[in-house]
Amino acid sequence: MSDSTLQALGGGAKPTAQFGHDALVACDNLVRIFQSGSVEVQALQGLDLLVDEGEMVAVVGASGSGKSTLLAVLSGMDAPTAGRVRVGRWDLMAMHAKERVAYRRQMVGFVWQQTSRNLLPYLTARQNVAVPMRGPRRQRAARADELLDLVGVGHVADRQPQEMSGGEQQRVAIATALANEPQLLLADEPTGELDTATARDVFDALRTANRESGTTVVVVTHDPAVSGLVERTVAIRDGRTSSEVLRRDTGGDVTHEEYAVMDRAGRLQVPREYREALAMTRRVRLALEADHLSVWPDGSPR
Ligand code: ADP
Ligand code: MG
Repeated sequence: MSDSTLQALGGGAKPTAQFGHDALVACDNLVRIFQSGSVEVQALQGLDLLVDEGEMVAVVGASGSGKSTLLAVLSGMDAPTAGRVRVGRWDLMAMHAKERVAYRRQMVGFVWQQTSRNLLPYLTARQNVAVPMRGPRRQRAARADELLDLVGVGHVADRQPQEMSGGEQQRVAIATALANEPQLLLADEPTGELDTATARDVFDALRTANRESGTTVVVVTHDPAVSGLVERTVAIRDGRTSSEVLRRDTGGDVTHEEYAVMDRAGRLQVPREYREALAMTRRVRLALEADHLSVWPDGSPR
């Protein structure tokens, strides 16, 4: 076997440009282990994820699959156990406490699922949005009104949270999260407490933030219909990204294509339905064709 064949089979450790060097968010083999008593929980088990600047990505997955853990790491609230994670110029593994504070102030905005957790109850919407801003009071109020208008809730500017619906509160929360002009907006099941119609309004507000202000958005959701609303939906299973659905808009025709995610070692998860349909278990036979791979169940005739 020639050297180049070995290389193609993944045998060589050729130095390459750093993984995802041109992406805004680069998670490389991210591991997060929680220790509770004598039990270890591996919330993230070698997760790879790249998000380009300006993208809006939805993250879906069963309860307990590691979605919130991922967002906590990206927001700088939690530190991973191993792996690499970079957002813009910030290396989140190497940050000290002081840098962590600066990162959270300058780089990210965050929206929680619980409406009550996002806003200060004794302030109006306008005042809530103005809290993270700097500058003269009048200017902050005007900017707050602009952001409230942007996400479609200009009419609640003078109301306190308890005088708003859940959907209005979440849209005010998005405006608040945008107040410091973050490059990255993170939302953890922001529509989890809302009915379908209201959830759509909140999703639209995230979209608008993404399109109008160019903010990169990563939104966790358990709503399977979201892949119809965003260009890319990433599915997490057992602390790893397992598949992606890409939405393509080709002149009025919208198509969805599902992709399996291949990690850097070439590992690939075959969906359970496919494995069961062909009784694929421990071992499969591979063949390299001109433009694709063929995969057969073990023991199938050649
Ligand atoms: P998701 O948001 O997808 O529902 P999480 O990221 O919250 O999942 O949790 C992933 C796994 O990690 C779960 O098994 C959960 O119980 C565990 N976990 C999350 N946070 C902690 C923690 N602080 N201590 C111990 N285990 C945790
Ligand atoms: Mg969660």
